[in-house]
Amino acid sequence: MTTVVSLLYIVSFALFIYGLMGLTGPRTAVRGNWIAAVGMGLAVIATLLLPGMGNWWLIALGIVLGTVVGVPAARKVKMTAMPQMVALFNGVGGGAVALIAWVEFRTTDGYAHEPLYVAIASLFAAIVGSISFWGSNVAFGKLQELVPSKPITIGRLQQPLNAVVVVAAVACAVAIAAGVSSEWLIIGVLVASALFGLMVVLPIGGADMPVVISLLNAMTGLSAAAMGLALDNTALIVAGMIVGASGSILTNLMAKAMNRSIPAIIAGGFGGGPAAAGGGTGTGEARPVRSTSAADTAIQMAYASRVVVVPGYGMAVAQAQHAVREMADLLESKGIEVAYAIHPVAGRMPGHMNVLLAEADVPYDQLKEMDESNSQFPQTDVALVIGANDVTNPAAQSDPSSPIYGMPILHVNASRSVIVLKRSMSSGFAGIENELFHDPKTSMLFGDAKASVGDIVEELKNL
Ligand code: NDP
Repeated sequence: MTTVVSLLYIVSFALFIYGLMGLTGPRTAVRGNWIAAVGMGLAVIATLLLPGMGNWWLIALGIVLGTVVGVPAARKVKMTAMPQMVALFNGVGGGAVALIAWVEFRTTDGYAHEPLYVAIASLFAAIVGSISFWGSNVAFGKLQELVPSKPITIGRLQQPLNAVVVVAAVACAVAIAAGVSSEWLIIGVLVASALFGLMVVLPIGGADMPVVISLLNAMTGLSAAAMGLALDNTALIVAGMIVGASGSILTNLMAKAMNRSIPAIIAGGFGGGPAAAGGGTGTGEARPVRSTSAADTAIQMAYASRVVVVPGYGMAVAQAQHAVREMADLLESKGIEVAYAIHPVAGRMPGHMNVLLAEADVPYDQLKEMDESNSQFPQTDVALVIGANDVTNPAAQSDPSSPIYGMPILHVNASRSVIVLKRSMSSGFAGIENELFHDPKTSMLFGDAKASVGDIVEELKNL
């Protein structure tokens, strides 16, 4: 039987890797996801075939509960709420690992009859899994607006306190590894790690959440791999390492794109402390802005030779991507060059804009990454900002007290003119004012993005 299991595992690993390759492009992503899911199904079946598997009723109950909760949740979730769903699902993985480490502690008398590496791997899994579970829950709460998304911090005491809870968790773990088998110690490991997870994510606010979610994802993968080592389960090691490695690469890329450092995240000094509030909260006195109409926008674009669409979270909320595609087709039929400037953290999840635009069959070669877009704005007649805010905010470059200071932005105001489509003067995710809206080059077209783009399309048809 173990040979069959090994063979099934090898097939499932090949499917994981093949599936992951599919996830590198929007065209192959859905198929890649299915392939990896089949791989995971095979790995689960193979694990159930392992000798000594017991408690079938409990296993069946777990599968039924997971299916009843997971399938409808995943089917019903709106695209814009995907990051919090990812945070929640990821957190559950870390929580499961932490609980398994506890169960193993109980069934092995505090890992007393196990080799030292098993104790070390299990304790590592308990710490990282618990941090990931509680941290992910805070991330979920912030993105779902159950917890204020602004940094919640206790000021100067924050970092010393973070250090104290980490030292407490590690001290309990070292005592267990040294042979002390009191159950209070493993509870201490789990509770101190939980506190660390809460305390490290609560102070993170503003625009930094994407990097944190990706980091927590990577941590869950690492904790699962460590637990696989302790349980001598190859599938868990491989799947955990794939999640850990790909999550780490993604975290690194996102941190680079936002000009943040990962050690600063872990230290809890990320996303700006209280000083960050100086970035302007949108409560200041009203300042004049220039508004425009769909008709004027259409005329301005019809006389342009190059238009760049800058999509953001508001385009996702309004589900305006199909209308945007129709507008771009009309512009192109008039000989106008159209491109899309994609900021790496526009929207609420990595690749959010690419996915939306791919859904509307926007030609992939029109999607330009941030650096290329920035070099082309000076040759652009109209930058049409559709529901984007933070990713165009010049404060990221000019205001050191801003919570998004240091994040690279799309330099839309290098274009000859800028038109911003949004419903009001409300701030974006980071909760700060955007000077771009007061720039003399900028006009505001107020309204729901889908309705506004629809109106522009009608006007373009009449020109
Ligand atoms: P923002 O969140 O900065 O701004 C979105 C804007 O869209 C709002 O100002 C809002 O203004 C407008 N809007 C909302 N609904 C509509 C609608 N129906 N029609 C028209 N406009 C609408 O978005 P960005 O994409 O510029 O920036 C993303 C932010 O989210 C960054 O701060 C990023 O760090 C963060 N983030 C990114 C994640 C990722 O992985 N990509 C994950 C989590 C957070 P109004 O209400 O006036 O219409």
